[in-house]
Amino acid sequence: MNSINIAVCDECGSKFLKSSSEMKGLCPECASVLYGYRDCKHIFRDGKCIYCHWDGSKSEYIKNMK
Ligand SMILES: [Zn+2]
Ligand SMILES: [Zn+2]
Repeated sequence: MNSINIAVCDECGSKFLKSSSEMKGLCPECASVLYGYRDCKHIFRDGKCIYCHWDGSKSEYIKNMK
């Protein structure tokens, strides 16, 4: 795995795969909840999504939105 392709989400603090998200600073989950971008159909394995590497973290703000 190339760590250059991994970023940390500004909102939830989870690591994610840069190429999986339409926004630089946000994982696909947060980008979708906050800005309506295409969501990842997460499939979790070993504690993170096999597609976007999101680990299931949610910020307090997002928890309160749902
Ligand atoms: Zn996030
Ligand atoms: Zn995912």
